[in-house]
Amino acid sequence: MSAPRLGILGGGQLGRMLALAAARLGIRCRCWDPSPEAVAGDVAELICAPFDDARAMETFLAGLEAVTLEFENVPVALVEKLAAKTAMYPGPRALSTGQDRVAEKTLFNSMGLETPEWRAADTRESFERACTELGLPIVAKTRRMGYDGKGQAVVRRAEDVGPAYARLTGEGVEGDETSRRAGLIVEKLVPFTRELSILGVRGRDGTTAFYPLVENVHRAGMLRRSIAPAPGVDETTEFHARASIARVMDALGYVGVMAVELFEVGGRLLGNELAPRVHNSGHWTIEGSASSQFENHVRAVMGLALGSTAMVAPRATMVNFIGRMPTRELLALPGVAAHDYAKLPRAGRKVGHATVLSCDPQTPDPRLAEVERLAEAADKG
Ligand code: AMP
Repeated sequence: MSAPRLGILGGGQLGRMLALAAARLGIRCRCWDPSPEAVAGDVAELICAPFDDARAMETFLAGLEAVTLEFENVPVALVEKLAAKTAMYPGPRALSTGQDRVAEKTLFNSMGLETPEWRAADTRESFERACTELGLPIVAKTRRMGYDGKGQAVVRRAEDVGPAYARLTGEGVEGDETSRRAGLIVEKLVPFTRELSILGVRGRDGTTAFYPLVENVHRAGMLRRSIAPAPGVDETTEFHARASIARVMDALGYVGVMAVELFEVGGRLLGNELAPRVHNSGHWTIEGSASSQFENHVRAVMGLALGSTAMVAPRATMVNFIGRMPTRELLALPGVAAHDYAKLPRAGRKVGHATVLSCDPQTPDPRLAEVERLAEAADKG
């Protein structure tokens, strides 16, 4: 009997880490990515073809037990086709919700998870009205195809309302024509004390498990550091976050790992967005939890029992490397786990991460300080 096979739409670092986790469970992965540089190709079979290539779809599907995805900007139409042919997790509904900021926030609100106050705006008039109703400052975002802070504008002054609308809906915006036409969401700019995220996993049988709330630090729209568990979170807050993501996963009939990004505002949690996939703020689970987010995602979509999400150390800190990956220097630091995605160095590109487990979160860890220093240097070129 040959090994079970899992198909993955996308072949970036998330696909790579999924394939590594799957291999340990005796499962082979096949990734489908339009780019020949897709780094999952080092550790999984890679089908390199555009997503609308019907022949590539047949080749991709041959012998697969299930299909999942590692990034959410794959066409919903493709996922619909795949869902009709095989076990496709997450399915079209979860994916289309994750692709649309308005659908996402509508779902959060209906599941009892508050969000920053928001309005959908698809004309200049409705955009101006939304700014007036919410009151400045606001943040305007394209409903679709935004990521890492792209396709967004913060508006603080009345005279910037018009130019922000023109910039976000005009030519030269990231994304295609369809995403520009989909319109904008206008959100109240909330004075959050920090950004958090919660990761949950739901199996085919509806069983759920959760990783603890994580504190995330972003700069220039990109995640720099995650600390697990988020320091100073009380039980009620943790419970609320878990209950919220559980309701969202149940409502979508979701299977796999999901992440919900949150703002902490005056002791309240506000939902920002969901990712229907494994998430950067869960990379620490590779070393920090009994079963990582990657392993649990594979277990869930393959219909296997979920693994324990319990942490194996009091604290795990993950630092992203953007621009360049100093693997050699990181490996010289005892106990530091370096993950090199084998990507070509490029300014603004996530090329790897490092995780440090700490037994005593109260004591400053010199290894962590050195990891942070290397990350700063990598980012500067
Ligand atoms: P997003 O693409 O929605 O994750 O937004 C990127 C970043 O912009 C977030 O990580 C926040 O730092 C900031 N941001 C987004 N929405 C808001 C908001 N409504 N209020 C304050 N900051 C926000």
